[in-house]
Amino acid sequence: MSIPAAPTAAATEAAATAPTASAPQACPCCAATIDADPRFAVWCPRCEWNLTPGATDAPAPKTRRSAAHARREAAATARTDQLFEDIAAGRTATGGQRARLAAAAIATAVHLATAALCAWGLWLLVTGNTPLRCLGAVVLALVVLIRPRLGRAPRGEGVLTRAEAPALYGLADRVAAELGTRPAGVIQVDADFNASVWVAGLRRQTVLTLGLPFWEVLGEQDRVALLGHEFGHRVNGDNRRGFWLGAAIQALAHWHDLARPRGHYRNAVGLQMLFQLTDLLLGVLLGGVAWLLRRVLLLLDRLTSRAGQQAEYHADTLATRVGSTEATRRLLRTLLLQQTAETAATRVRAELRSRPGTARRGRTPDPAERTSAPEAFWERLRVHLATVPPLEHERLLRRSALERGAVDATHPPTHLRLALLDRAPAVPAAVTMTPAEATAIAAELAPHRVRVARTLLAG
Ligand SMILES: [Zn+2]
Ligand SMILES: [Zn+2]
Repeated sequence: MSIPAAPTAAATEAAATAPTASAPQACPCCAATIDADPRFAVWCPRCEWNLTPGATDAPAPKTRRSAAHARREAAATARTDQLFEDIAAGRTATGGQRARLAAAAIATAVHLATAALCAWGLWLLVTGNTPLRCLGAVVLALVVLIRPRLGRAPRGEGVLTRAEAPALYGLADRVAAELGTRPAGVIQVDADFNASVWVAGLRRQTVLTLGLPFWEVLGEQDRVALLGHEFGHRVNGDNRRGFWLGAAIQALAHWHDLARPRGHYRNAVGLQMLFQLTDLLLGVLLGGVAWLLRRVLLLLDRLTSRAGQQAEYHADTLATRVGSTEATRRLLRTLLLQQTAETAATRVRAELRSRPGTARRGRTPDPAERTSAPEAFWERLRVHLATVPPLEHERLLRRSALERGAVDATHPPTHLRLALLDRAPAVPAAVTMTPAEATAIAAELAPHRVRVARTLLAG
């Protein structure tokens, strides 16, 4: 059957970000009536025509490589589905313990390799003659270069101190206390449609990063659920974020980055034959090391993807306990809108720039527009995401179902995360945000809202 050309998301999302009346039209494949919103991709829920705009429907030529890829995808889908069924039924996921031990063994090997190199460098330095001492110094310099890094707590732009944001820290502290974990050491806001938590430095400070485009479009209680999910990562036994495995993964990624072949190994060493030969040998050697390190990283990814998915489900369950099942459901449905938010931000930027008297690149805005444009940006983004029609939500959910085959994904597809919420009895919120608290937090974030909106408007 020939498939009619499918319009892309970019082509079908009209310039307006405000909701517009839907116009019924017939599906070009099965003739079903589609209630299309001109702001979004037109697709058919009956035959799934144009479910993924821009994707080709023509079957790819069958090669040995594509067959192997298809087999890997099918295996990943089966693993993802099996893990979901295990967790939904309250069973301990099968095979998890062996993968956990294997990942810990690789991490130990990484740390032992660094320790052995350090010990050898020191031994050469203490016991060797002058040339061996020089070699020892080189080895120790290499150890400094490849040492495991624990990360530093962020400072500067986007970081909120406890004195600047007492209400936000207060809410985060209540969520952390409810889950029995340490409070946030640092809260940072950035311009991503995301949020994350990680642990920095020897003091193991919890760093909470809130992406303002995500935070701003969430409802008040959904924000509590978001904090519940993020702090949930501190208590859900996610070993990828632990001290031992986390530091090993970071070290391996850093080693891979150092060894990755770069142009200057091949080009920058002048015309002399000797240098060119050395350059070539170094490039081949480092290329081999980088290939090996990439394999180990992929293996670690594979070994920890099940634990990663399990940790996400667990963090969602903790989010329901803190912010309620209903708020967590809304949080996950908003999470599906990442691409929509990016497209909306581009449209809002174009709209605000074309408005008479508003900021354009290279022109200094007058004082009135300096304050109005950022607030208008957030308001329009909120309206756009709040008016996404059910048909578009359904398309995004079905697309998320297709992502089950992503090999070694550490996040389960969102439709399965939502399905897990439906399997468990709904629970009320243990922490609620009061209206006074919401107002105070909004005031604390106001300067960052202006800064981030300006960054996004200038992008
Ligand atoms: Zn159809
Ligand atoms: Zn998470």
